[in-house]
Amino acid sequence: MTEACIIVVPVFNEAASIDQLLQRTAAVSPGGWTMVVVDDGSSDETIERLSAEAAHIDPAKMQIQLIQLSRNFGHQRALMAGLDVALRLADERDVDRIAIIDADLQDRPEDIPDLLEATAECDVAYAVRASRRESALFQMAASVFYRLLARWARSPVPPNAGTFSVLNLPAATAILRNADENVFFPGLRAWVGFKQIAVPLQRDARGDGHSRVGIKGLVRLAVGALFGYSRLPLYLMMCISATALVLSVVATIVMSILKLTGQVAVEGIPLLVVLIFFSLSVLAVFLTILAYMVSRNPAPVQSRELYVIAHETSLN
Ligand code: UDP
Ligand code: MG
Repeated sequence: MTEACIIVVPVFNEAASIDQLLQRTAAVSPGGWTMVVVDDGSSDETIERLSAEAAHIDPAKMQIQLIQLSRNFGHQRALMAGLDVALRLADERDVDRIAIIDADLQDRPEDIPDLLEATAECDVAYAVRASRRESALFQMAASVFYRLLARWARSPVPPNAGTFSVLNLPAATAILRNADENVFFPGLRAWVGFKQIAVPLQRDARGDGHSRVGIKGLVRLAVGALFGYSRLPLYLMMCISATALVLSVVATIVMSILKLTGQVAVEGIPLLVVLIFFSLSVLAVFLTILAYMVSRNPAPVQSRELYVIAHETSLN
């Protein structure tokens, strides 16, 4: 195994941290690394800064390849575009591992060698956050999300594992080939299997303080992950509809007994309510069965590409 590696970095308006990312990564490169920067439709100075900084970096230490998507496709898809290009470059340059890191310096470039070293004994090494410097509310939401996913995912998604990882080529290929509309990289990485090792690492605060994915993006990602990688929604449907059905059957029996024994004359509205309740819960049970059948065949309804690459440039 060589020290060579291709590093995929999705960037969206990261002008504030891109210089540091390049410098810090080049500083730990033993030589022979290639960085694939995927510009996900940035509208600030990211590209200018990147190009200027890249010109100062010795290509023998680290080559920098810029991939520009045709618009903003979002973090997860930008990652897939990066993997796509990285796999091609790995093949051309005879490199056997691909690292994935965010541009905001929350994951530390200095930790890449540790992850690389870990892959000597496995196919995938991923960082788990030993600590997280984020707001208490964010930490709580993240912990609930990861717990739900760990408990309900079809293939267990390790808690607190983000995107920061190193993959060998078979694992990277499997991830790219199985990416779908709801692509959620940590879920897919767990799903593809292979021998995986969790490496506990410290996670820094974001360089310039605010997330590019944002709360809306994170909620969308969390919902997509829970629907795409777990059966929790189905289980909830099943519990609720089965409970409703049991309750309405009990209510019907109780009412019939009361009426037959002549204790209470159950007529009119109460009867109607129970009947509606009963028929709706029968419907809910059938809907659950239908949902289960659909969930077993999650065929993509539209088969569009997940991203569009507009340009590819070598920067140094
Ligand atoms: N990012 C991207 N496209 C987007 C949003 C974010 O490529 O639409 C990049 C961003 O520049 C960063 C990484 O994806 O390198 C993770 O984004 P962020 O740090 O905002 O996510 P969070 O840490 O909040 O999950
Ligand atoms: Mg971040």
